This record gives sequence, C-alpha cells and structure tokens, in this order.
Amino acid sequence: LKSRLSDPALLETRAYVNGQFIAGDATFAVTNPARGDVIAEVTDLNRAQVAEAIAAAKTAQKDWAQWTGKERAAVLRKWFDLMMAHQEDLAVILTAEMGKPLAEARGEIAYGASFVEFFAEEAKRIYGETIPGHARDKRIMVMKQPIGVVGSITPWNFPNAMITRKAAPALAAGCSFVARPADLTPLSATALAVLADRAGIPAGVFNVVPSTDASEIGKEMCENPDVRKVTFTGSTAVGRILLSQSAAQVKKVSLELGGNAPFIVFDDADLDEAVEGAIMCKFRNNGQTCVCANRIYVQAGVYDAFAAKLKARIEGMKVGDGLEEGTIFGPMINASAVTKVEAHIADATAKGAEIILGGNPSELGGTFFEPTIVTGATPDMVFSQEETFGPFAPLFKFEDEDEVIAMANDTIFGLASYFYAKDLSRVYKVAEALEYGIVGVNTGIISTELAPFGGVKQSGLGREGSHHGMEDFLELKYVCLSV
Ligand code: ADP
Repeated sequence: LKSRLSDPALLETRAYVNGQFIAGDATFAVTNPARGDVIAEVTDLNRAQVAEAIAAAKTAQKDWAQWTGKERAAVLRKWFDLMMAHQEDLAVILTAEMGKPLAEARGEIAYGASFVEFFAEEAKRIYGETIPGHARDKRIMVMKQPIGVVGSITPWNFPNAMITRKAAPALAAGCSFVARPADLTPLSATALAVLADRAGIPAGVFNVVPSTDASEIGKEMCENPDVRKVTFTGSTAVGRILLSQSAAQVKKVSLELGGNAPFIVFDDADLDEAVEGAIMCKFRNNGQTCVCANRIYVQAGVYDAFAAKLKARIEGMKVGDGLEEGTIFGPMINASAVTKVEAHIADATAKGAEIILGGNPSELGGTFFEPTIVTGATPDMVFSQEETFGPFAPLFKFEDEDEVIAMANDTIFGLASYFYAKDLSRVYKVAEALEYGIVGVNTGIISTELAPFGGVKQSGLGREGSHHGMEDFLELKYVCLSV
C-alpha cells in the first residue's frame, strides 16, 4: 500500500494524542476487504489511554476557544487545502481499508473536505443576538459558546467524511475533539491527523484514538465528565446505548443512526431518470450507506418497465477490487455483512419474491456479492423493518399515493426518503407527508455540506452540515444586563 502513495507518511499506524503520534503497547490488524490481506497493524488504545486524550483535549480547548473565529478559520482552511492536495493518497488508503471503488473514495475525500472548507468559513459567523429587554433598565444579550470537549464515535462506511462532518463544526465552534474511528477503518482517521498536524491545528485540539474496545471507549466518553458532548454515527442499537449511558450526566448527544429509506417511483415519473437515481441511491457504496434506498416502491402502471430497465442497467456493471479500474461494486465490508444480505434475500424468496438479477455471492469469492434485484416484495419481508446494508434492491408494487405514503412511513426510522414524480401537487403532498429528515425529489443523491443532514424518529438527534450543523456544538448563554 505504501508504494502506491505519493506521500507514504500519510499511512500512519499510531494514535494521535495531544499533538504526538504515539504507539501504544497493543496493536490490531487492519485488512483489505477485497483481498483479505493485512495492510497495517494499528495502535490499540485502552480506556485509560483514551482518558488521557480527553484530559489533553480539555486543556487544549481552553486556549482554542480564545482564538478568534478568523484565526480558527485560517488553520481549518489549511487543513482543507491539505486534504484536497492529498486527495488521491487519502482515497487509496480509504479504498484499501474499506473496499469502495477508488472513484467513490475520491468523491468521499472531496465530500469530507467540503465540511472543513464550509465550517472554516462559518467559524467567522458564530453570531450572537441582542433582544429588546423586558424592563426599561434591562438589556438581553445572547452569546454562543463552544460546548467543550467532544467525544466522537464513527462507523466504517465513510471512514473520512463521518469524522470531518463532526470535527469541522466542532473545531470551528471552538470545541476540541477526540475521534474514535471504527476499528475496521482507522487509517483514514490517522491520515486526517497527519494533515491536521501539518495544518497547525494546536496540540490536543484534534485527537485520534484507535481502539478495538468500542464499548469501553463508548463508556469512557459518556461517563467522563470532561467530555461535554458525544457525537455518534452508526446503528440505532448502539445509539440507544450511548444515549442511555449519557443520561446520568445529562450529556449533550448527537446521533446519526440507521435508516430504512423508501424510494418511490410514481407513474408520472421520468422512468429513465428514476432508474439512474435508484442506481446511485441503492447501490452506491454497495448499498452500505445509511441513506441508501432500502425499499423501492413502484406504481403498478410502470412497475414492469422499471424493473426491466433497472435490471438492464445493473447487469453489466463490474464487481471487483475497488483499486482496479472500472469497478462499480467493491467487496462487502465483512462476512457478517454478506450473511445479512443472504438472510434478507432468503426471507424474501421464502415469502414469494422472485429474484430477477443476482442473488448469490460473486464468483470472485471473499465478500464480493452479486448486485441483486427481487420483484414481488411485500411488507411482511424483513427488509420492510430492517436495513439490509447491501447491494440488494427489493421492488414493491403499489396502487395509489396514500397507500405508498403509509407503507413508506411504517418504520421506526426516518432518515432519508426519495420519490420521483412530475405532478406539482403530488410533489408537495408527498414531500410533506414523508416522515423523514431528508426527502430527495427526482434525485437519488442528497448529501452536501450545505444542507442539514439528519433523521427524525429513531434515526437520530441533531443535524450535520449547513449552519445548523454548527449549533450542535454551541451553547446559548443569556446575559441579563441591568443598566
Ligand atoms: P455499523 O453497523 O455501522 O458497524 P455500529 O453501530 O455497530 O454500526 O458501529 C458504529 C461504531 O460504533 C463503530 O465504530 C463501532 O466500533 C462502535 N461501537 C459498537 N458498539 C459500541 C458500543 N457499545 N459503544 C460505543 N461504540 C460502539
């Protein structure tokens, strides 16, 4: 892997604490899901060592909060510039540890960096407020202040962007940050640390603490009173654990959790555009994103045509090593991800669905899996309630608007949703009726640093991106001044 990098120092296997790269006593292996080979042995910190990082972050935050917004903006901007200057190397590291095709990894690096650029700019615009007083001698001021030390836990599916989307607004706001990356993908995080160091982000402000003991580190972040805010992206199951662990200290918590995105195609949709949108939305990252379409609803009149077009478009797409040219579908992250997809397919066929494409592990072996489409999906199938997180598209048939809205909303989740339609009143009605934090209308791609990303119901708390994303890292202080 090192030989593929133009800057081999970006492949960093040590933790980054208080401005130092430290090798702990223990290490863990990081493997390439495409080949199964070990690409690095990474420092494995224990709970006590993470507590030391939190202590360093606490000390560093005091001074960092005193920096002007403009000063913080300057180093964040430098961090962004370095990310983009090293986009290719960061993408190669990401693909090697996570498996997504290199073109998608390049996209993720640009997407991840865009949060750093955006929040560098926003650092100068953390405006307070004055409110007319409630008595002649009273003046009301509202200040915005950084919450303090932020503890972050992130997943493997976006090893770069899930960290920058949290760290950039936190740092811009004047918080310090302790990032515990997923143990499947720590190298994208340590590479970010290398660049943070070069950008001149002060020691202790941004820390990366790789660790295999997720539950102990999660407890440390929730139970250590010096951590004032926990921010998490991952499954709803783990989100619930972190939320309940945070209750004892009434700790601020942001959660970006699972989804079960509906993707609805109405009979007035542009069918070719809907097919392209479905491909982007369902199969990007091999279906392993929390905003991937999980249930595809197609109105009866266009159902057969949509199914045929979708199948025809997917059929020739290349499954392979993400580092190889032309790969569209990389490997699944690990064997248990494959098992889940197989279980969802088996459940569907047992209940009457018909496989029209794929359905099996790929002949490449390992964790490669054929992109799969089934028709005849029904609400009693397990994917109606549970995210599949794989390259599997179940197609449901529906008759009318109210029916599909009810089915789409029949889930504990509420992250992303999508629909294709042309009729303007239908567009308004459906956009308003979907109980989701995000609605894509005639598009399958909704992620941008400019918009607030986040879920309703059990998909989470808080928003990331846009000026709203900064608020999650700020406290309001009301100052009542008697003159
Ligand atoms: P995913 O299915 O995306 O892996 P998880 O919620 O299992 O979703 O994992 C997301 C992140 O949370 C990973 O970094 C994982 O190591 C971490 N994690 C898993 N269990 C816990 C826990 N009990 N406490 C804190 N973090 C956890």
